[in-house]
Amino acid sequence: MAHVAVIGAGISGLTAAYRLSKAGARVTLFEGGDHTGGVIRTLHEQGCLLETGPDCWAGNKPAGVELVRELGLEAELIGTRQGVRRSFILHKGTLKRLPEGFFLISPMSLGALLKTPILSARGKLRMAYELVCPRKWGGGDESLASFVRRRFGVEALQRIAQPMIAGIYTADPEKLSLKATFPQFIAMEQEHGSVIAALRSKARSGAAGEKIDAKAAGPRYGMFVTLKQGMGTLTGALEAALPPGCLQRNTPVLALHATESAVSLALPDGPVQVDAAVLALPAHKAAGLLSGTDPALAGALSQVEYAGAAVVNFIFERTQISHAMDGIGAVIPAVENRRIVAFSFSSVKFEGRAPEGLAVVRVFMGGGTAPEVAKLPAAELTAVALAELRELIGVKGEPKFAVAAAHTGAMAQYHVGHLERVARIRELAARHARLAICGNAFDGVGIPDCIRGASEAVQSLLSRVQ
Ligand SMILES: Cc1cc2nc3c(=O)[nH]c(=O)nc-3n(C[C@H](O)[C@H](O)[C@H](O)COP(=O)(O)OP(=O)(O)OC[C@H]3O[C@@H](n4cnc5c(N)ncnc54)[C@H](O)[C@@H]3O)c2cc1C
Repeated sequence: MAHVAVIGAGISGLTAAYRLSKAGARVTLFEGGDHTGGVIRTLHEQGCLLETGPDCWAGNKPAGVELVRELGLEAELIGTRQGVRRSFILHKGTLKRLPEGFFLISPMSLGALLKTPILSARGKLRMAYELVCPRKWGGGDESLASFVRRRFGVEALQRIAQPMIAGIYTADPEKLSLKATFPQFIAMEQEHGSVIAALRSKARSGAAGEKIDAKAAGPRYGMFVTLKQGMGTLTGALEAALPPGCLQRNTPVLALHATESAVSLALPDGPVQVDAAVLALPAHKAAGLLSGTDPALAGALSQVEYAGAAVVNFIFERTQISHAMDGIGAVIPAVENRRIVAFSFSSVKFEGRAPEGLAVVRVFMGGGTAPEVAKLPAAELTAVALAELRELIGVKGEPKFAVAAAHTGAMAQYHVGHLERVARIRELAARHARLAICGNAFDGVGIPDCIRGASEAVQSLLSRVQ
């Protein structure tokens, strides 16, 4: 029976350890800190449920829901609250409803475009021109910003695409790779000559299994799922399913040396030898561990940039907030020059998050357009977030509770050329039969992407070492 080390107990590492132990391997999961779940952490405070990292995931990517079922947690799955799935966007200092009938960056009909209050007449005309805008043939990867500017115009980029995408990828659209993140838009341009035309045709036919909801508003919260008792339920269940003694907390792996027959790990208490290892870390941390054993692979891994993000959760009395809270949150375009990226009315977004009379508001800061914000001390993050909420949703008085969590270097940035960078990493990593690498740098940044990536990494490793 092979002894496999998994390094990092975030969702990627927990999934890898779970899969390995189910496959019969002897597993040791090394976690550098005290906490398992990585950026996932659920807190319970004053009867409220707070998420200091991710709060949900895309239910249309099967790996997440499948794992939940496998762990016997299906009854815990919930979607966003019915009837309040609309959200807001800040427009010239005022919160406006996100336009209906848009699919991320594009209207799905001219009617939807005409009705939106967040574009000028000129901006709307420029967007409508997308229907006849000549397609670009060939060429390499392109940034999302370049694509949106080219097809829909500058206003659409600043007022719609940038804030929508920042909420998903915490990325700067000027650097974000279209090929790695939204290849479907490239296909729409190539196949239909127009994204709007392609969406209209898909909405009519429900083509290619991709049902487009004509009433979808913005980042389609109806698609998102979570667990009643929070994201920590998932990581807790994975941890509980591991064999006794498998998890070693407060045990950072300091370096790693791989040969054809074994892997040795440098631990604070001395070296340990195992048959194989899975690195389930942010790519820059995996690079640090590999620099001695394979500088080329370490160099390729460190090419994937990361940005920090911060989340501040507040508990207020409902009466402290003058906004009607008749939606699930808002995205804030960078052009509005605010210091927050988005906020959610968490206690509206999901059932059961706060007792009657209390409200949980969650503020998202930092990301690729303002990475320095995530480096602020917790007290400053809280102060900045609160000041913004006072102006945006009319918060009065002091919160009953506030907690800020900074996640520095946690979010992989899929910049232009990302797919080539990942292909190079995989080519170099393939020289190590006893190593597997997973995490949010490779197959998508979302929770289901990390779960799928970890499961595939384990499958491939086991085919080599068993
Ligand atoms: C604020 C925020 C909000 C997000 N929101 C969402 C969302 O709503 N939906 C969604 O799908 N995705 C979301 N994401 C993305 C998603 O949560 C992450 O991509 C995913 O959780 C990453 O998991 P991971 O296990 O790969 O890495 P991590 O969670 O970073 O875990 C890595 C683990 O490795 C440990 N470690 C590091 N170095 C060592 C070492 N040398 N030795 C041992 N252990 C080590 C760390 O302590 C950590 O526990 C969000 C991310 C952030 C930061």
